[in-house]
Amino acid sequence: MHKITLKPGREKSLKRRHPWIFSGAIASLSGEPEGGETVAVHSSSSERLAYAAYSAKSQIRARVWAWDDEVIDAEFFQRRIAAAAARRAALHLGATTNSWRLVHAEADGLPGVVADRYGETVVVQLLSAGADRWREAIVDALFALPGTACVWERSEGDARALEGLPDRVGVLRGAAPAELVIEEHGIRCGLTLAGGQKTGYYLDQRDNRAVIRTLAQDAEVLDCFCYAGGFALNAAAGGARSVLAVDSSATALEAARANAALNGAAQIEWLEADVFQLLRRLRDQARSFDVIVLDPPKFAPTAAHAERAARAYKDINLLALKLLRPGGCLLTFSCSGGVNPDLFQKIVAGAALDAGVDARIERWLHAAPDHPVALNVPESEYLKGLVCRV
Ligand code: SAH
Repeated sequence: MHKITLKPGREKSLKRRHPWIFSGAIASLSGEPEGGETVAVHSSSSERLAYAAYSAKSQIRARVWAWDDEVIDAEFFQRRIAAAAARRAALHLGATTNSWRLVHAEADGLPGVVADRYGETVVVQLLSAGADRWREAIVDALFALPGTACVWERSEGDARALEGLPDRVGVLRGAAPAELVIEEHGIRCGLTLAGGQKTGYYLDQRDNRAVIRTLAQDAEVLDCFCYAGGFALNAAAGGARSVLAVDSSATALEAARANAALNGAAQIEWLEADVFQLLRRLRDQARSFDVIVLDPPKFAPTAAHAERAARAYKDINLLALKLLRPGGCLLTFSCSGGVNPDLFQKIVAGAALDAGVDARIERWLHAAPDHPVALNVPESEYLKGLVCRV
């Protein structure tokens, strides 16, 4: 087996069980491992620390599969995936939904592997060289899970580009269903496998979408960055008087309109617009709302982008807080791994101060439990939200 030897002192984060080995931490590499091949990782004093997948092109040069002696083979992936699925089964999500995250990368001991169940279809993303190398074993293990009729691949985007891997989209096992319908807290959402963002839907916001229901009775609601309408539909189900739902993607709004029809939600107005501009327009028109949702895309993929992201978060939060009536609620989110919960709270506090609005946090929100956080990988806690009452 090929071997990575770390520079002196660079074993510390591995010893704390953080599974990434950056290129700058490596003193030497024996042999020429292929992309995704398993390498043994040793400290400068020759202590074996882990087995990892080698990524020749990425700054994260290797990602740990196993800390202890464990052979990395097809059975390894079968065991890890079966264990991840068993943890989801223990959450008893079936009572509220037919869709959940089965495999959440580092938190399930499978860096680079994301898999979401949508009914009988599993959508998989293989985002690292190691995950890509073991694709057949991973896909077989997913297809073997009870209640699975199809495995569909959506391996695309920046993460793969950083690994030097091309995009791959399409059916891998079974037959792709003509249509997929997500059921969540009694709301139905249609999904197309090839289109849609991420693996198709933002399952991580499931429980937070349920929170808006409890706040929406008779309210005038503004749902910013609405995508396929998740928060807007829940607000409508919670008795909102009106909902204005905004996204810049025409495709997302087309899906959202279809979902409104599917659920008989007539009080939602869908608007294609840039939220940064729209909030200013609403301010100039002296509009006001009882509940506002801000669920923007990732502004800061890493901590290096945190400063620019902070300005963008502050801008929209300040504008939204000014549009709220007294007693109104802001549900504000950040899915940027590079902005930690502490910083996010500070940004929102700064926005309230500059808006001249007195607000308090009523709830902290997080990703749903099928998106666990790897305890030793703080940056994997990417989704955080606040319910602020003004
Ligand atoms: N709230 C959604 C998920 C939002 S994802 C849910 O619960 O499912 C973020 C969305 O923001 C995407 O749909 C994307 O199209 C949209 N978006 C990105 N930049 C935008 C902008 N400047 N103005 C409006 N929408 C934007």
